[in-house]
Amino acid sequence: MNKQENPYQMALRQFDEAVKYLKLKRGIIEYLRYPKRELTVNFPVEMDDGSVKIFTGYRVHHNTVLGPTKGGIRYHPGVTLDEVRALAMWMTWKCAVVGLPYGGSKGGVVCDPKKMSGIELENLTRRYTTEISMMIGPESDIPAPDVGTDAQIMAWIMDTYSMHKGYSVPAVVTGKPISIGGSLGRAEATGRGVTIITREACRHLGMPLEGATVVVQGYGKVGAVAAYLLHEQGCKIIAASDSRGCIYGPDGFDARHAKRFKKETGSVVGYPGTETVSQDEFWGLPCDILIPAAMEGQITAENAPKIKAKLIVEGANGPTTPDADEILRERGIPVAPDILANAGGVTVSYFEWVQALQAFFWSEEEIDQRLERIMTKSFAEVWALAQEKEISMRTAALVRAIDRVAEAIYVRGIYP
Ligand code: NAD
Repeated sequence: MNKQENPYQMALRQFDEAVKYLKLKRGIIEYLRYPKRELTVNFPVEMDDGSVKIFTGYRVHHNTVLGPTKGGIRYHPGVTLDEVRALAMWMTWKCAVVGLPYGGSKGGVVCDPKKMSGIELENLTRRYTTEISMMIGPESDIPAPDVGTDAQIMAWIMDTYSMHKGYSVPAVVTGKPISIGGSLGRAEATGRGVTIITREACRHLGMPLEGATVVVQGYGKVGAVAAYLLHEQGCKIIAASDSRGCIYGPDGFDARHAKRFKKETGSVVGYPGTETVSQDEFWGLPCDILIPAAMEGQITAENAPKIKAKLIVEGANGPTTPDADEILRERGIPVAPDILANAGGVTVSYFEWVQALQAFFWSEEEIDQRLERIMTKSFAEVWALAQEKEISMRTAALVRAIDRVAEAIYVRGIYP
């Protein structure tokens, strides 16, 4: 991550830009700039070699006006409280922009899951869950996977929470395995949502999807799925990257196979038929669609002038800094913003939560159809507002989202 950019400052700059288009009371604007509550926990974990290591974790609730909070848990060495604050705030806007009855939250633990054994990760997860247990629950705050966490970690959270309660509470997390109440379609949902928004953006911009060249930064749960689904829709995936490096194959490569290759070898680097390129070359690759799907603060004032894409679709949260946004806008490169483009994950998480609460499960076809409806409708609303007000899709998405949350605050009133 670009260390200069503080993600929370980025989120606030985006927010301040959007509220210019809304008539909100000064106090309501102030209220929405801050998280509602924040918890920092420092806790011990026994490691495989018998030593005890202290870890720091966070859970932040940004806003609870529309309903319980929803937000992933990140395991990464670079996690900071400001990063978690930003991600929680973006979750509030994301849920509101697609019309889900949730507020936003996020959690994180400063750790490197790649350097930990399965037992150490399980111990860390169970202890962290216990430490934040006063913040989470099926009616209050529902975690999900994010960078460095997966379905297995969600299963440990669900199990730990359930052990404390004395009965199983599957609705306390989403993104969990199907065998314990996970939803069909959840694993692919964020990537699938990214492909729906890519398709809709291309359609509105008059860009053919068939044969479009695509570059994907970050080949994880979001990026790799978006890549292979777009490949299956006729796009040509010409470059990808992960934390170990960037690959380029101008004739396009089999994105699903590349995902398997990464699983087996730990990286996309070395994928047959591709060459390794530098970060600098990667950002300058000529392509139709660029999908940042790694971390925040990746498209900056330094690399934005070099980008040769015709469309950017944000799979990651906060990948574009406000300065870069300005440069892209001047250069006429449209950006489908994170809170819209990657909302497929939280949308199917919502379906998973609803299914868990009623203990009644839907088919994958039903899930995909409902996701398709919500994503296309949300895109159309954001696109129309952007056209009407002559603002970027990011600002339009934020205006819609902030307006929905503010409306709920006015209707509920200020307690007492
Ligand atoms: P992940 O851990 O599955 O994958 C992240 C990928 O990014 C990995 O391949 C990693 O190697 C790569 N990466 C990390 N740093 C990089 C760098 N500097 N350059 C290139 N690649 C790098 O995580 P994920 O769940 O796919 O999340 C990716 C992004 O999408 C995050 O911003 C996350 O908040 C966001 N997101 C995730 C979901 C979800 O459902 N998982 C939903 C919405 C948004």
